[in-house]
Amino acid sequence: MKTVNHWIGGKTVEGASGNYGPVTDPATGEVTTQVALASADEVDAAVQVAREAYLSWGQSSLAARTKVLFAYRALLDANRDAIAALITAEHGKVHSDALGEVARGLEIVELACGITTQLKGELSTSVSNRVDVSSIRQPLGVVAGITPFNFPAMVPMWMFPLAVACGNTFILKPSEKDPSAANKLAELATEAGLPAGVLNVVHGDKVAVDALLAHPGIAAVSFVGSTPIARHIHTTASANGKRVQALGGAKNHMLVLPDADLDAAADAAVSAAYGSAGERCMAISAVVAVGAIGDELVEKIRERAEKIKIGPGNDPNSEMGPLITAAHRDKVASYVKGAADQGAEVVLDGTGFTVEGNENGHWIGLSLLDRVKTDSDAYRDEIFGPVLCVLRAETYEEGVALINASPFGNGTAIFTRDGGAARRFQLEIEAGMVGVNVPIPVPVGYHSFGGWKDSLFGDHHIYGNDGIHFYTRGKVVTTRWPDPAEGHVGVDLGFPRNH
Ligand code: NAD
Repeated sequence: MKTVNHWIGGKTVEGASGNYGPVTDPATGEVTTQVALASADEVDAAVQVAREAYLSWGQSSLAARTKVLFAYRALLDANRDAIAALITAEHGKVHSDALGEVARGLEIVELACGITTQLKGELSTSVSNRVDVSSIRQPLGVVAGITPFNFPAMVPMWMFPLAVACGNTFILKPSEKDPSAANKLAELATEAGLPAGVLNVVHGDKVAVDALLAHPGIAAVSFVGSTPIARHIHTTASANGKRVQALGGAKNHMLVLPDADLDAAADAAVSAAYGSAGERCMAISAVVAVGAIGDELVEKIRERAEKIKIGPGNDPNSEMGPLITAAHRDKVASYVKGAADQGAEVVLDGTGFTVEGNENGHWIGLSLLDRVKTDSDAYRDEIFGPVLCVLRAETYEEGVALINASPFGNGTAIFTRDGGAARRFQLEIEAGMVGVNVPIPVPVGYHSFGGWKDSLFGDHHIYGNDGIHFYTRGKVVTTRWPDPAEGHVGVDLGFPRNH
């Protein structure tokens, strides 16, 4: 069996706690790998290594940093397939989807390559007599990233490229369910010339996370995962004096107005609900059909969903893979099984589905629930599986009120041909990311990603300008170079005023 160890100080470091977690191939159900789970002492040792590396990396020139980042970009580009294969083997998503994940992560490395312009400070000359003022941004020190299973390469890349470009050193604690991609990302960074100790990967579970949250040597924590854990991370790390951004779960709605192109809306709903088997924080999990279009839209979604090919992620014919674990598959199935009792019409029931020859895989088919009640479990919870709920609203206002009543506010989309309605929606909807005829509005790298309400705890969204702000702190320098000919200013106990 393969063992995934830590990557600390530019090399593999064997787990010392004696604790290992199982990593399963979701398509076969076989445990293929064990991952080392770090103790608090191992976390502490990694923080010391990162602290030591920070002493020089924090002082390194922008030229030195960008040289490494450009080399890293080229290596990642050359290794897209290899990284995607690691993702598929442990996460289960199909290879094309895994390649998409790598591409979206690469965007942030490309953004980091341009850190020279992003980190330019501001200067005001002659704000007062011979006084100039400059604003600069400096790194924080050692920062940590804790990431979820559903994007084992992209979400770490939302964090560490910008963190290290800004001069910090980084400790990544990836999901223990699919840990291999993180090590590959770190190995390639070392190959690209990133000095030892700047990017470290420490594997583990709650023990390692809580050790990071309590460690006085960690200045900031970026987290992406489920809402209950995001809340815990935000509360605990804040109480320990750290800067925190904690992105949580979601229930993303798609509002379809009566004037929308229903074929385009149905295509988008199917792609966004069932892509990656619904295990995306930006998956559309609720469609709100406005007016009389509901029956026609549901029928169009059903026709398309029935044709999706489910199979192992490494089979080029598969469009959708298995779920991450058998337990998660069973939980997803329970929502479908309970839906009719809670008032929904079960249009498609994906429970009980299996793939011949791979019966132990974590399979489930596509489910479509219509006329779902807002107080039902299938609507209220983030299911995180291939289950799409359809709700009906009489008017645009009723649809918007329904969406705004959700405790989540990650992404949302409107499908319409009416520019005025789309504009209203942008302004009235309570979510951090909005798509207009775009079902999965994940912002490009140079804008920031983040939700509202229970989908994000903290002030900063992730990557883009917010990312650079999160990984740096401001300093303002006020300078006077007196002219010796003018003599001394003399003592003045008044509060300094500008002249
Ligand atoms: P999770 O919250 O279970 O785990 C995320 C990380 O937290 C992992 O590294 C895990 O080891 C750690 N962790 C788990 N339980 C912990 C505990 N009790 N104490 C401390 N650390 C703990 O999330 P997941 O199941 O890996 O990922 C799926 C979730 O992530 C979904 O809710 C999804 O919406 C969310 N997600 C959100 C975004 C976003 O941008 N908002 C992006 C991707 C995923």
